[in-house]
Amino acid sequence: MLNNTGSALEKAGRIMLQALSQYIDESQSGSGPVVTLEPISSIGEELQLDRYIREGGLDLKSLQTFLQSYLRHSMHMHHPAYIGHQVAVPHFASALSDLLHGVIGNPMSIYEMGPPAAAAEQAVIRWMLEKVGWQKDGGGILTNGGSIANLHAMLAARAHIAPEAWQQGTPADLVVLCPENAHYCINRAVSIMGLGSRSISGIPTDRNEMIIPDKLHQVIQDEQENGKRIMAVVANACATSTGLYDPIEEIAQICQENKVWFHLDSPHGATALLSVKYRHHMQGAELADSIIWDAHKMMRTSPLCTGILFRKKDYLENTFAQKASYLFHEKDNPGVDILAHQIECTKSALGTRLFMVLASTGEKEMGNFVAKLCDHAKAFAHQINQRTGFTSPFPIHSNIVCFQYASEKYDQLSLRNKLIETGKYYISSTEIKGKRYLRLTVMNLETSRETIAGLLRLIEETAKSFD
Ligand SMILES: *Cc1c(COP(=O)(O)O)cnc(C)c1O
Repeated sequence: MLNNTGSALEKAGRIMLQALSQYIDESQSGSGPVVTLEPISSIGEELQLDRYIREGGLDLKSLQTFLQSYLRHSMHMHHPAYIGHQVAVPHFASALSDLLHGVIGNPMSIYEMGPPAAAAEQAVIRWMLEKVGWQKDGGGILTNGGSIANLHAMLAARAHIAPEAWQQGTPADLVVLCPENAHYCINRAVSIMGLGSRSISGIPTDRNEMIIPDKLHQVIQDEQENGKRIMAVVANACATSTGLYDPIEEIAQICQENKVWFHLDSPHGATALLSVKYRHHMQGAELADSIIWDAHKMMRTSPLCTGILFRKKDYLENTFAQKASYLFHEKDNPGVDILAHQIECTKSALGTRLFMVLASTGEKEMGNFVAKLCDHAKAFAHQINQRTGFTSPFPIHSNIVCFQYASEKYDQLSLRNKLIETGKYYISSTEIKGKRYLRLTVMNLETSRETIAGLLRLIEETAKSFD
């Protein structure tokens, strides 16, 4: 049994740190598999999950064995062949915060319960607002992931156009406009809010699935002529599928002319604000009404840490019209209780996570890191196009590359599935304009030209196995 004492923590911590540091070094060297996908039941058995749940008994010795199995079966995100999803390979500085708060607890929605964590959240929010250009009037909070953040932003948009909705329910004449490749959580948020997914209207996109601003004018007019009120226009920065940014500035201008709430869904792409080289993709972001920004995608934190940012502080403060007397009472408070302005009640110290990483790298280095990943992606797209049979037809704005190695004999999804079974590479796939593509998200600077050359060879070999 592990006793909950300081000295036992120290011993368990040593075992943990040794296992983890070895794990990082091995993963980065790329020597073992990136992932081995065993059936869930056999993993459960190997880890003896059911037995431990009932009997307890995890001690220092069995912890070591447990960790070895756990790590062996995990996705090795530090591996150069992890080129799958838009989830950060965490900087371990973020884990220092996780350990810190795992030990001290300190949920921080009420200032009294975690003053330093509340201060860290406020500081990183202030910094994020400044990066967008909203330091003067803006407001924001952190939350657990982009999906909750998008729901929150949609609620703020509703409070803006229909403040009575909190009591009366959502009016039936509201619509949300977004491109076909909007993240599924936008549709989900709209349905959760009781608008029904039929209240989503598509904004036409070009062949790269980027919003065509001129068409947006028309959609707004058509909806208004049909007696609808536009609750929000949503644009991607960048799109999950392609990694391409919608033309933000033009969209923002159209929204301003029509007095429509503009929400920028930019969990992945907002970090470009830190890079001199890639910042231009976010041009016009400051004209939006709300922006969301994940630190666990491109700012190297462990999951999760998302900023919900508003151009005006009022938007944050007006979203939830609710009182809970045991928590929201007036008191002499030397800090801030953010409870009234967020979906969660108890919330972990998300700000400390991001703070630790930034405190380690600094904002400039963080910007350089993102720029390098995007540079890598551009080079890889070129490399892919150079090789016979491969096509990567989209421009590259971020660190995402979509491509095909097409044949009549198989579809891209079967190709991808067979490929990852080898354990040598982990890549994802996506649909763009109804066609399936293989998809890379470059998250490791260790992913090199040689890594990609190996991937392309393996794809050719895997394709042959369909003959
Ligand atoms: C990743 C992403 C989301 C969802 O964010 P999570 O943090 O995974 O919940 C929403 N929209 C876009 C455009 C994204 O890239």
